[in-house]
Amino acid sequence: MKKLNITFLFMLSAFSFAQEISKERVIEIVSTLASDEMKGRKFGMTENDKAAEYIASEFKNNNLAFCTGDSYLIPFEYKGQKGYNICGVKKGKSDKSLAFSAHFDHIGTNNNKEGDNIYNGADDDASGVATVIGLADYFKDKKTDYSMVFMAFNAEEVGLIGSKALAENQNLNPILDKIKALFNFEMLATESQFGKNAVFMTGDEFSDFDELINANAVNGLKVYPDPYQGEQLFYRSDNVNFVKKKIIAHSISTVDMNKAFHYHAVNDDMKIVDGGNLTAIINNFAKTIEKLNTKNFNPVYNDKVKYDF
Ligand SMILES: [Zn+2]
Repeated sequence: MKKLNITFLFMLSAFSFAQEISKERVIEIVSTLASDEMKGRKFGMTENDKAAEYIASEFKNNNLAFCTGDSYLIPFEYKGQKGYNICGVKKGKSDKSLAFSAHFDHIGTNNNKEGDNIYNGADDDASGVATVIGLADYFKDKKTDYSMVFMAFNAEEVGLIGSKALAENQNLNPILDKIKALFNFEMLATESQFGKNAVFMTGDEFSDFDELINANAVNGLKVYPDPYQGEQLFYRSDNVNFVKKKIIAHSISTVDMNKAFHYHAVNDDMKIVDGGNLTAIINNFAKTIEKLNTKNFNPVYNDKVKYDF
């Protein structure tokens, strides 16, 4: 009897808690990418390759399949420098997929002789990568209706170059052609101007994506319209290279533009990360996405969106 009880307890805990991503896990991912050893993950530097390899190893731990060829690492070149994007896929019941992305590169170091000279980029965008890996963790042992594509983009900071290379890579067409919607996560480490457990989405006026997410949202998670319309963030983030392919693609963020003094500054490090809020957002997105299937989630663009710009 004793043995049975232990097995029962184990099963119970596996079903009710195992899939929640812990705050420790989220902090582990953000702090690995934002560590001083990563030297700001600048495109073209060895530390940028190191960050790419770390993300690939997390994709492997989550049993993702390769998007193309025999590696998660997909090389590209820009101005004579080589770098990698990272792409992994999880098969669902349907071939149609939801995609999750974030950029992992940042802006490197400066030459200041005194004080901090490393741009750790904890918020920008280790927090987004932690969200992507957190979702891969969450869905590792789950069978979903939609297939899932997980991507980490390089060279965002030099002009959205990595996502462009990935979106235009012909070898990826079998994957990209099946993407129904892309969630691009960009800077989620601080509390939004709408408070905790809240994010804003760029380009909310162009599709019904946010309405559909809010209709399925769990635990009070809320997606707000982009409050910084004048900034044209929809056309200035990695999602845009997929918009050009007419894929529903929005960026999701918590950054409070009126208070983000850490933006592209050396103090974008672990000290500004609200690990509790980030963890709640990741788990609540995961549980919300878990409710989505090919029947109840089919966002479409309206005619206000531009595909050529
Ligand atoms: Zn960024």
